[in-house]
Amino acid sequence: MIKTSNPSPPEARRKMVSEEASAPTTRLSACTSSVLANPRACALFLDMDGTLLDLAPTPRSVRVPDGLLELLERLMIVFNGAVAIITGRMLAEADLILSPMKLIASGVHGAELRRGRDLEIERVTAVLPDDFVEAMQGVARRIPGVLAEPKGPGLAIHYRLAPDAETLIAQELASALERHAGVFHILPGKRLFEVVPAGLSKGTALVALSALPQFRGRVPIMIGDDIGDEAAFAAAELRQGFGLRVAGEHYRPDIADFSGPREVLRWLDRIVTHFDPSRRSLRA
Ligand SMILES: [Mg+2]
Repeated sequence: MIKTSNPSPPEARRKMVSEEASAPTTRLSACTSSVLANPRACALFLDMDGTLLDLAPTPRSVRVPDGLLELLERLMIVFNGAVAIITGRMLAEADLILSPMKLIASGVHGAELRRGRDLEIERVTAVLPDDFVEAMQGVARRIPGVLAEPKGPGLAIHYRLAPDAETLIAQELASALERHAGVFHILPGKRLFEVVPAGLSKGTALVALSALPQFRGRVPIMIGDDIGDEAAFAAAELRQGFGLRVAGEHYRPDIADFSGPREVLRWLDRIVTHFDPSRRSLRA
């Protein structure tokens, strides 16, 4: 075998893989190793629905799992403050769900930011035009089971209770958005369409929050379950971080890192109990 003192990067990678053939090689294992090695070198970004919370028939009917708030507070200690929520919901609504807890967060796919737990919510862009919101509310009134949810700078159309309406809603959205071309874009999600300001995404949210002092220079870990999270996965991976996928209606179990929110919470709980073993585990 020819030995070189300075192997090229692919050779170095092959060498590493062969030497570590018995070591964990999956994305989740690598991420777990990074966190356990030094959580204060990592930053945690969490989607809510489908990631921390089970999906519900309507956005208002989600249930907060027992112990979630305590788990988040303990994560804040382990990660030394570098824990943030990145959600498609409005932050006012996310706050109600997690009440009385408020975290550093981004809402409406990057269109809202809260850069400190005690700080006001900043709106990054203007609200949607009234005529567009009214048009979408009209669609919701015409199709039973469809729900239009204005979110200030964005809007969601939910059709979980009317799955056959997908094509019709997509057509209505496309024609309404023709009048506002270049200003907004449509993001399909789990039985919903999100209308999001152009140029903003959960990826821009992750980048903005990563610039905060407690997040700066850390390995970003984004956990999410939907198409809207992919921009944040890409932003995290671009920064040598991790995008951890939760299985569900979007990711098949064989390509996901977690089988569902329950397994995400178990993984987070394992991290906090690892660093504070005197505290009981919150989850069986
Ligand atoms: Mg989600």
